Amino acid sequence: MSIVDEIKCSHCGAPIAFKPGEILATCKYCGFTVVIETGETFTFEHSLLLNAYDLDQIEGPIRTWMQEGFLKPSDLARKSKIVEKDLVYLPFWVVSVEAKSTYKGVFERLTPAVVRDGKIEKEYSWLVLARKATEFPTKEYNVPLEGKIPYDFRKIEGFAKVLNSEVDRDGAVEIAKQQIDAHHRFLVQQDVDKIIEFNTELDTKQVVYLHAPIWFVKYEYKGKTYQLLIDGAMGTAIKGDIPMSGF
Ligand SMILES: [Zn+2]
Repeated sequence: MSIVDEIKCSHCGAPIAFKPGEILATCKYCGFTVVIETGETFTFEHSLLLNAYDLDQIEGPIRTWMQEGFLKPSDLARKSKIVEKDLVYLPFWVVSVEAKSTYKGVFERLTPAVVRDGKIEKEYSWLVLARKATEFPTKEYNVPLEGKIPYDFRKIEGFAKVLNSEVDRDGAVEIAKQQIDAHHRFLVQQDVDKIIEFNTELDTKQVVYLHAPIWFVKYEYKGKTYQLLIDGAMGTAIKGDIPMSGF
C-alpha cells in the first residue's frame, strides 16, 4: 500500500503529492521544489537532464542495444517484444568533491613484509541516487552532466514520471563519503595487503540536485521477461539483462 499525502505548493498553490520517506517534492505545475518537512523553498541548485526520445523513438536505442555485442542471441532484436517502456526522471545528488585518503598498511608480498603509508587524492563528481528502494546501477551510469540545465517542468513529458528525493543534501554528502572511502580502500589494495589505518576526508565543492531521464524497459524473449535501462539523454544502455544464448 502506498499512502500519498499532499502539501500546497508555496509558489503556485497547487497540491503537491508526496509519499512517506520523501524529503523534497517538486510541483508538477510550476516546477517549484519544496522541503516537505518544513514547507520551505529548496534553495540549492536543481538541475535537469533532457530526454531526447519519445515513446516511438526509444525503440531505436533498444533495438540497437539488442543487436550489439557477441554475448547476445543473434535473433534477440528480431524475436523480442517490448512490453514496457516507462520514462522516469530519477532524482540524484551530484556531489563534487576533492577527496583525500591517508593510509598505513602492510605490504606482505615481500619478505620481510614492509609497512607502507601513502595517500590518495582525487576529484569527483560523485553520483548518489536519492531513492532508497529503487534498484539502480549508479556505477554503470555515466551521467552526461555537461548537458544539464536548470530544472524546467515544461520540459517534462506528460507520460513521464518524476520521483521525489528520499535523501537530503547532508545525507547525500555522507553517502558519497562512505562510497568514496570504500572505493579508495579498494584502490589501496594495489599498495598494501593489510590496512592498519585509513582515513578519508572530503572537501565538498558543490552539491547539485538533479533529475535525470531513465527509460525502464521490459522486453520478452522466448517467454521470459528481461529488464533494460536506457539513458534518455544519450540513448545508451546503462544496464540490460541478456538472455542466455540457447543451443
Ligand atoms: Zn507549484
